[in-house]
Amino acid sequence: MIVAMQEGAEETQIQQVIDQLVKLGFEVHRSSGARMTVLGAVGTGIDFDIRNLELLPGVQEVHRISAPYKLAGRSFRPEGTIVRLPNGVNIGGNDVVVMAGPCSVESREQLFSTAEAVAKAGARVLRGGAFKPRSSPYSFQGHGEEALKLLREAGEKFNLPVISEVMEISQIPLMMPYVDILQVGARNMQNFNLLRELGKVRKPVLLKRGIAATLEELLLSAEYIMAGGNYDVILCERGIRTFETYTRNTMDISAIPIIHKLSHLPMTADPSHGTGRRDKVPPMARAAVAAGADALLIEVHCNPEKAFSDGAQSLFPDQFSKLMDELRMIAPAVGRKVG
Ligand code: PEP
Ligand code: MN
Repeated sequence: MIVAMQEGAEETQIQQVIDQLVKLGFEVHRSSGARMTVLGAVGTGIDFDIRNLELLPGVQEVHRISAPYKLAGRSFRPEGTIVRLPNGVNIGGNDVVVMAGPCSVESREQLFSTAEAVAKAGARVLRGGAFKPRSSPYSFQGHGEEALKLLREAGEKFNLPVISEVMEISQIPLMMPYVDILQVGARNMQNFNLLRELGKVRKPVLLKRGIAATLEELLLSAEYIMAGGNYDVILCERGIRTFETYTRNTMDISAIPIIHKLSHLPMTADPSHGTGRRDKVPPMARAAVAAGADALLIEVHCNPEKAFSDGAQSLFPDQFSKLMDELRMIAPAVGRKVG
């Protein structure tokens, strides 16, 4: 950490800051020029509020140098993390893995025909919600365990590992036998009790960025899961809330290279929730692959106009298949393969 003192700060003020840093456990290196003093504070694992230092008399500015997350930070595993799923599907390796399927599991017919279409087009993981976080309590909330059973069955039939959202701690044991990836939705990104419990399971977790979360907050949430011993965390950009109203959310493509710089965890892009409009999903999916996404999460529905949730952002199977062809052309340009 760097503490820059104001020009002309008094010696007693400088000493007060040094004393405070030493008390916190830092080793302090002082550098005094003709007009200014800068303090370099070195220490690991020290938990403190930076604002308490900024408020001390004579302090100009304070900057953290090291990240507050340790396990999720790139330096923990500079070579990157590969999350291994059944059927030889690896997220974080050379292949860009496409996860696709309906927003919610509605019926056997709906799920199986969608699963067949996405498998045929080259998706490697099947998605489908069983527990749905809906803004309105009157909207479809998901078919729960029945949906999970269908998802597992469809996954087995089409040789696809499956992903579904877990909304609360009590659902974890229920979901374990059915799913290969537990998805934490945007609304639960900072449900710290849920994250802690997910740290205890030995199953990959896909953690979505909260609707108003910074990337540092996303990584700190990943840290909660990893601190419990579960290192198989996949991050996901799914759009954030901004002043723009044309799209449902603003898809932050820059989050992809930023996360790759800050963290070793694989990064997914969800252009379906990121835009909320079917016509904008393919361009954002293409952009995400070009920006280096390790995986995509895309909503596809065999009959989107009749979908129980998120129909407007769900691709028709034909659109999905065309998009996959495009992604197969884009990926090699950035040294990847859509596998
Ligand atoms: C979903 O994947 O259907 C979902 C609810 O996502 P999010 O948490 O990103 O809104
Ligand atoms: Mn959805």
